[in-house]
Amino acid sequence: MKIFLYAFLSSVLLCCNSTSKSTGGEKTNLDYAETITAQDLKNHLYTYASDEMEGRMTGTPGQKKAAEYLRDFYKKEGIKAAKEDGDYFQNIPANFFAGRNNPKASENVVAYIKGSEKPDELIVISAHLDHVGVDADGNVFNGADDDGSGTVALLEMAQAFQQAVKDGNGPKRSILFLHVTGEEIGLFGSRYYVENPIFPLENTVCDLNIDMIGRIDPDKASNPEYLYLIGSNKLSQELQDVSTEVNDKYTNLELDYKYDDPNDPNRFYYRSDHYNFAKNNIPIIFYFNGVHADYHKITDTPDKIEYDLMAKRAKLIFLTAWELANREKRITADKA
Ligand SMILES: [Zn+2]
Repeated sequence: MKIFLYAFLSSVLLCCNSTSKSTGGEKTNLDYAETITAQDLKNHLYTYASDEMEGRMTGTPGQKKAAEYLRDFYKKEGIKAAKEDGDYFQNIPANFFAGRNNPKASENVVAYIKGSEKPDELIVISAHLDHVGVDADGNVFNGADDDGSGTVALLEMAQAFQQAVKDGNGPKRSILFLHVTGEEIGLFGSRYYVENPIFPLENTVCDLNIDMIGRIDPDKASNPEYLYLIGSNKLSQELQDVSTEVNDKYTNLELDYKYDDPNDPNRFYYRSDHYNFAKNNIPIIFYFNGVHADYHKITDTPDKIEYDLMAKRAKLIFLTAWELANREKRITADKA
């Protein structure tokens, strides 16, 4: 009898659930992921990696212009500055760039969406805004893949989260959109951030760092639907498990961990901004398409980017951030 009643009740519940789903029109994480489009990424990147930005060398007028482009985007979207004074720039004094020839002041660009239920817990999504400038003959290094791709992916993700906020579906935990400067000259912007964090590092759940997601490694030509993930289980198995589940459920990219091999001579784990978070025992994932013939050359231009693939990779990262921000339990550094 008890069993019968339970079965009866669950069938009623199932019925009502599915009814409300089909008529309610409630938007889901996938609806927001769909707002990240190849065309939007392309539009941003053709400006962000244009000659006008003069290769975005740290501290130069071109880099400042790039920082302003990011700030203006967040302002227009109604996404707030991370700092309480409303300034989107985290200013870094010239003397922080020690060991550099003729060091110049620069800035990180930092925007923020406050969590609706656990605002003190913070998910960081990062990409570096700078590149390597101009060569002696005046040729511009556009850095479309490095790291224009990560930068504009961050903009599209921020816009997707902000749409969710507008619909009353904003993330439970807070999200920090962190555009760091000075990466190419020694990971300075991310180091400055962790030494001068805007939010306490102990409340920082993880950093999802994106550095080059718009191209295809020649080794992967036969299966371009891949992405290298680096360091994803180094401090937290839970983080890698979440990442894998999200990919299996929604994006089905081949997640390639070959650069996690401790004997890999490239040592990529130590070579981008996530490392400054990892040093502070904050779990990280570094998303990377691998190197290619145009890496750090003047030929890293926006016409060579695979925009559909880049959109798919950006969706994976967005949906991973969504899960990390909304799941019941905060992931922990279970291996730290
Ligand atoms: Zn880079």
